[in-house]
Amino acid sequence: MNAASAWQKIAFVILIASATISRAQTALSVTQIAPGNYAHRGHDDVATPANGGDIANIGFIVGTRCVAVVDTGGTLAEGRALRAAIRAVTPLPVCYVINTHMHPDHIFGNAAFRDDHPQFVGSATLAQAEAARADNYLRALHRELGAAAAGSEIVAPTRVIDGTGTLDLGGRTLTLRTWKTAHTNNDLTVYDEKSGTLWTGDLLFVRCIPVVDGSVVGWLDDIARIRQMNPHHVVPGHGPLDPPWPQSLDTEERYLADLARDVRAAIRKGETIQQAVDSIGLDEREKWLLYDIYHRRNVTAAYAELEWEQ
Ligand SMILES: [Zn+2]
Repeated sequence: MNAASAWQKIAFVILIASATISRAQTALSVTQIAPGNYAHRGHDDVATPANGGDIANIGFIVGTRCVAVVDTGGTLAEGRALRAAIRAVTPLPVCYVINTHMHPDHIFGNAAFRDDHPQFVGSATLAQAEAARADNYLRALHRELGAAAAGSEIVAPTRVIDGTGTLDLGGRTLTLRTWKTAHTNNDLTVYDEKSGTLWTGDLLFVRCIPVVDGSVVGWLDDIARIRQMNPHHVVPGHGPLDPPWPQSLDTEERYLADLARDVRAAIRKGETIQQAVDSIGLDEREKWLLYDIYHRRNVTAAYAELEWEQ
């Protein structure tokens, strides 16, 4: 080989190497909050082009045999970044992709894991809930995120949980549980028995205002049962990871209990839904992020639910 062709060869190798590097997926930032439990902290915001829809806490749990993903983020791109974060931690296969509920910020990264051929796991009521909203969710995603939404799609569960079920990751058992309609009608929690880590999905909001898209009464019932789980570590759906327990649950419960109490009082007084919206929970404003976006909607949802009690 002469000098010129040797240099050509080196240049070619450099070209291939740099192309490979530029294609390498950026990994999502994750924190190991308990042994084998890695969580990503989403932005405390609604989905915007700036945050790329990365607004929910998501993550993964590693056993000796395989990995379970718990929620996949708001876009295909975020799901790919989560997959890269897994690959930076372990070469083990992804055998389960669990969705804690139907909301776009938790499910739209699912397709990033399709080639891993995992079981997609969710509540028995998840598939129907997703199907009913699929068109609206996709339209909203593209409107809110533009190009960042590219390739995102709903991947329905292939294995459903109704009540409780367990998943074996090898040396690590996850107990999955579905709940009475609360945040949504398809809420599911994941409990890692080995480390005592509870992944609540959006049954627990910390700092970000809870969003009622199911039932305020059901949610209060569920909170009483979640309290008894006494986890050592907690990954809430939104807000700081591993928040103080049970104080974080207490704060959410107080908001929802006050909401239910005040809406019931308004209905008893014969107030209209608009009067209730204009007067209830105004003092909550300083206590929660995203109050302006979700609080009035919560009053409306609670009113629609509770007027049938009277
Ligand atoms: Zn949600």
